[in-house]
Amino acid sequence: MKFAEVLLPVPIPKSFCYAIPPQLDLELVVGHRVLVEFGNRKMYTGIVSEIHQKVTEKYDPKPILEVLEVEPSVLPSQIKLWQWVADYYMCSIGEVLNVALPSGLKLSSQSFLQIHPHFVIEENLERLNDREFTLMSYLEKEQTIPYTQVGEILEIKSPYKTIKNLIEMEAILLIEKIKEKYKPKMEKRLRLVQYYAEQPHLVDKLFEHLAKKTKQEDALLKYLSLVPIHDDHLLNFHGVNKREFLHAGRPLSPSSVGTMTKNGIFEEFERQVPRFELSAADKVQPTPVLSPAQQECLEKTIQGLNDKNVCLLHGITGSGKTEIYLQLIKSVIDNGEQALFLIPEIALTSQLVRRLKVYFGDVLGIYHSKFSDNERVETWKGVQEDQFQVVVGTRSSLFLPFTDLSLIIVDEEHDSSYKAHDPAPRYQGRDLALVLAHMHHAKVVLGSATPSLESYYLAAKKKYAYAGLHERFGDAQLPEIKIIDIKEKRKQKKMMDDFSDDLLHELNNNTEQGYQSILFQNRRGYSPYVTCDVCNWVPSCPSCNVKLTYHIYRNELRCHYCGHKEHVPHTCVSCGSTNMKTVGLGTQKIEEGLKTHLTDIRVGRLDLDTTRRKHSYEQILTDFEEGHIDVLVGTQMVTKGLDFGNVRLVGIIDADTMLYYPDFRAHERAFQLLTQVSGRAGRRGETGTVILQTHQPKETLFAKVARNDYRNFFRKEIKDREQYHYPPYTRLIKLTVRSEKQDLTNQASEKLARLLVNWLGQKRILGPQEPGINKIRNYFLSEILIKLEREGIDLKKAKGLIQKAILQQKEEKAFSRVWVSIDVDPQ
Ligand code: ADP
Ligand code: ZN
Ligand code: ZN
Repeated sequence: MKFAEVLLPVPIPKSFCYAIPPQLDLELVVGHRVLVEFGNRKMYTGIVSEIHQKVTEKYDPKPILEVLEVEPSVLPSQIKLWQWVADYYMCSIGEVLNVALPSGLKLSSQSFLQIHPHFVIEENLERLNDREFTLMSYLEKEQTIPYTQVGEILEIKSPYKTIKNLIEMEAILLIEKIKEKYKPKMEKRLRLVQYYAEQPHLVDKLFEHLAKKTKQEDALLKYLSLVPIHDDHLLNFHGVNKREFLHAGRPLSPSSVGTMTKNGIFEEFERQVPRFELSAADKVQPTPVLSPAQQECLEKTIQGLNDKNVCLLHGITGSGKTEIYLQLIKSVIDNGEQALFLIPEIALTSQLVRRLKVYFGDVLGIYHSKFSDNERVETWKGVQEDQFQVVVGTRSSLFLPFTDLSLIIVDEEHDSSYKAHDPAPRYQGRDLALVLAHMHHAKVVLGSATPSLESYYLAAKKKYAYAGLHERFGDAQLPEIKIIDIKEKRKQKKMMDDFSDDLLHELNNNTEQGYQSILFQNRRGYSPYVTCDVCNWVPSCPSCNVKLTYHIYRNELRCHYCGHKEHVPHTCVSCGSTNMKTVGLGTQKIEEGLKTHLTDIRVGRLDLDTTRRKHSYEQILTDFEEGHIDVLVGTQMVTKGLDFGNVRLVGIIDADTMLYYPDFRAHERAFQLLTQVSGRAGRRGETGTVILQTHQPKETLFAKVARNDYRNFFRKEIKDREQYHYPPYTRLIKLTVRSEKQDLTNQASEKLARLLVNWLGQKRILGPQEPGINKIRNYFLSEILIKLEREGIDLKKAKGLIQKAILQQKEEKAFSRVWVSIDVDPQ
């Protein structure tokens, strides 16, 4: 007997052994999606990860019920990657599978039973036991019933035996009504029947037959002009798109074509069409010619990849890194291999995707979480079948079934959205790209104007190659950055609300000269809220320990952690006063303020609030691009990758908050953010201007941003990291303890910390500590931070001990309702 290890989308860290029934033995291979029973009466789609002869479990393994496909959807190399992710990020492989496999490939797993057509109950009464008879009578009434209901009907837990017996005596059939969620997009096509296509001289005869039927004659002529089968009869195979055939050019009579189909001259067939076909308007263009500086950087990158496999491409904003990526990808395509182009958040980079589509056309696949299931499955299959040689996508595209991957580009590699948070696996896309590349012997380019400290550190240590590009493309220069002292301006009464006179002046000037501006307001720490003017009471969320955010347009309060909404209170709950006022600097408030100070300006806003609907983001950007908006106000979203030639001014409303997060990455983030948002100004032609408003004009970080001095920023920052034992000098693992009771959370986290101190040593454990927001969705939180050395430590063993500590604690009855989540390399 043979057995299969099957991976199931459950949070249990192992695979499950199933028996391979003889009838499936020949077809089953690793990577197949199969239907199995798990637990009581639960059916799951699983992935076969191994086929073997040994029974690993004491009990009799259950059989695999069905193989769901002919060609396996998953490659062995992918299973290897999943296992790596599970080990490194300390989660179950089932959780990885859950994220890796598009939901379109996870069937809605319901099988149905029906009576076998040849089976007559009355003739077989003595063969059926009571249970079997009950089920058969039920089936007779209902025709089909879902497998999951059988247990209920028979009032037993595990109905499989009954079902199996009935199947064996050919009393019932197990039918797969399982709907594949994936529906390919089909197109109706038309072609000549093969008989004519292979014997073109018969077509000439046809014309004689059709002599009086001009409409049919027309149709045949049109077909032959589109598909010259006299030159090559194989052309007939693909035929023509039916709708286009009927309507494009000189229209044909649909009924005549219908008659010809009925008479066996034409035949209709269906073909699957790719969802992302280029429209006729943007046909594939040649990639742009590189400037000498770009060419030099390209050569350095190629050399670097040959030497070290990984190259950090450090190019300032607007230097044209994308054009260098294009060349690299092009040579991969010419070699018949695959390339993956990773980007942080696709919604924010649709400009880039459009650009890539123009160069790579049909061999470019797109993959991201906002796509429908169908689209994701299509890209998945397209990659597997080699239709897509290039994929542009967000971090989840690392899980696609690449067969011949030779290059991964991680664009904006410093971006924190490469890190996955909840649910597990909490992986870092950039790091996983390196692992995936290693498995495929592929190369990696990490590109950024503001590299992550980790990557720059490894380049400095010569682990990665380095290629710099320090000039902008064309005549463009980096913008001039002016630092404005908010306190000083207030003294001089030159602050109008949130705007300094300089900022208003520049905004006005810029608009008058026909240029556009971007205003950036940091999202965190600046959401507006409502408060009582008398006692300072602030409405907060009933389930989370946070202030509710005020939304002007809907005039309501919302919780940004759980989505709770309520009306703005007219009276204070605490003192009864009716003096409620709004506080804080949201982007909405900036927008409103701007409209009062500069009346003729057209203002647009780009933030989470205005972009919630699917295409609103694109719409706002299109409006901006087409010049319907003079000033675009926004949060983090306006800092990322936007390339608009007409933007000459960038205003940063308040640069300070970014510096003061209780997070060792605060300075790194601030440097990156300020440099990136500044980089949106003056990308073509005249030099742009950035107005940076701050209460700390002497802060050295701002000066480094103004001088575009990454190197000195790095030197200072890396010293701090070394001194305080933070990455890249150490490795962090964060444990978050959650329960519905504050006391319980505290006890559990203290106990866990003590265990860890015992096993890993005091100096490696920080906390437990309450996070800034210590209650979310009615769960109280506590955090423990584990710091592990980079070298000279057995990482696997340390992780094993952490897992053991968590398990040991969970086994205690008092802590059965406490949950611990693990975040390796938290961000
Ligand atoms: P980065 O990503 O480095 O900030 P981009 O790749 O967006 O810069 O390039 C900045 C601008 O310069 C883009 O509009 C791009 O089209 C243009 N550009 C860069 N290199 C070239 C080139 N070789 N030929 C034509 N245009 C280029
Ligand atoms: Zn009050
Ligand atoms: Zn809440």
